[in-house]
Amino acid sequence: MYKSVNTLGAIALIMAIFFAVSANSTETAAGADDQIVILVGIDGLRADAIDRAAAPNMRALAARGVRAEGMTPAMPSKTFVNLYSLATGLHPKNHGIISNYIYDRKIGREMNRGSDINDPRWWGGEPIWVTAEKQGVKTGTNTWLGAEAPIGGVQPTYWNPYKKSHKSEVYAARVDQILEWLDLPDGKNIRLGTLYFSVVDDAAHQNHVNSPQELQAIEMMDKIMGRLINGLKDRSLYERTNIIIVSDHGMADLSPERIINLDPIMDVTPFITPDWNRSRGAAYVAFINLYGDEDGVENAYQKFNGAHPHLKVLRRGAFPEGYHFDHPDREPDLMLLADPGWVIYATEDQTPPPSVLPFLKATHGYHNLHPDMRATFIAAGPSFKKGIFTKPFDNIEVYGIIACALSIKPAKTDGNIQNITHFMTRKCD
Ligand code: AMP
Ligand code: ZN
Ligand code: ZN
Repeated sequence: MYKSVNTLGAIALIMAIFFAVSANSTETAAGADDQIVILVGIDGLRADAIDRAAAPNMRALAARGVRAEGMTPAMPSKTFVNLYSLATGLHPKNHGIISNYIYDRKIGREMNRGSDINDPRWWGGEPIWVTAEKQGVKTGTNTWLGAEAPIGGVQPTYWNPYKKSHKSEVYAARVDQILEWLDLPDGKNIRLGTLYFSVVDDAAHQNHVNSPQELQAIEMMDKIMGRLINGLKDRSLYERTNIIIVSDHGMADLSPERIINLDPIMDVTPFITPDWNRSRGAAYVAFINLYGDEDGVENAYQKFNGAHPHLKVLRRGAFPEGYHFDHPDREPDLMLLADPGWVIYATEDQTPPPSVLPFLKATHGYHNLHPDMRATFIAAGPSFKKGIFTKPFDNIEVYGIIACALSIKPAKTDGNIQNITHFMTRKCD
């Protein structure tokens, strides 16, 4: 009896040691696998933004971790294209979101940004929250483009529909929502959270780059980042958390001296031109994607090609290398693309362009390698080395960076993890 108790005691002791050791070793592994990622998307935050505005929190994050001289957006340098390349690690030709407004030949119509936002037919690839959820990591998006659709049948455990606002109380509440999802008990709490904010993009569009309004918007975002950092510190989660601040693209200033008026060259209204939202009146855009029948497209090509020194006319099947734009059902027949800082103008009724820019003082959508289109990448936390200022890299690497920090197996992407391992503290697959 004593013996058996002793034996049991010995077994218990051995088991206790075994569990202590394995708990310890899983703790190293789990410790490593315990990291949190908060991905913050600040629309239109140029790579130089935190040097131009008072941004102590974002500067401190950069000093504590990694900052890129710039991050190269996908082409065209528009919001939808890039938020979704960031989420999936894919080129637009492979994820299908080739513009802010998309026409699909197979579906036979333009994407409706209201009702199609939750229709998985429009959303290709595997966003990072899907990869995470499939591997048991809970995610919460507040918000991210694409997270309103069940992609591959999977959605974030927690997600909110996108509602545009520029109010600082609303932005603070977005941060608080992420903190609440982190506060949930084990098994329910998130390890990946995403945030998105549009105030800087709108301020620059409406008032110019470096305007007091743009600088104020950057400063507002910096305070919001301060709220996130303090919330994590209050919960003792800061040391476990990787904060990754990205933007989708940069911004270039416009001028009434740099308007490309299409009206005298050719009327584009008979074509499908999803990027030109006629309900807003005349077009003021960096590019127009154009879809039409063969003869019409050939005619348009002949008329537009060479018609203006700052207008490029690119044809389906012959987009420059690096555009990665040739989605089988969505690649436009023609892309009319302005040089950076120039704006394409077109009307339905031949109204001449005004002498002052009416509502758009800066924009984006231009060639993705132009320095003005460079986006922000700042990341700090246990997965990132400290005090690194790195050369520009493509935004398709961000998916792999997040997968590495979360220690999950990434889906196949167009990125190459070797491009970013020099600033990671851990081995990435
Ligand atoms: P743009 O500057 O034209 O490329 O577009 C920026 C706009 O995209 C922002 O002002 C947002 O209103 C919009 N946007 C960003 N994320 C979403 C989303 N998840 N759903 C709908 N619209 C969005
Ligand atoms: Zn944007
Ligand atoms: Zn914008």
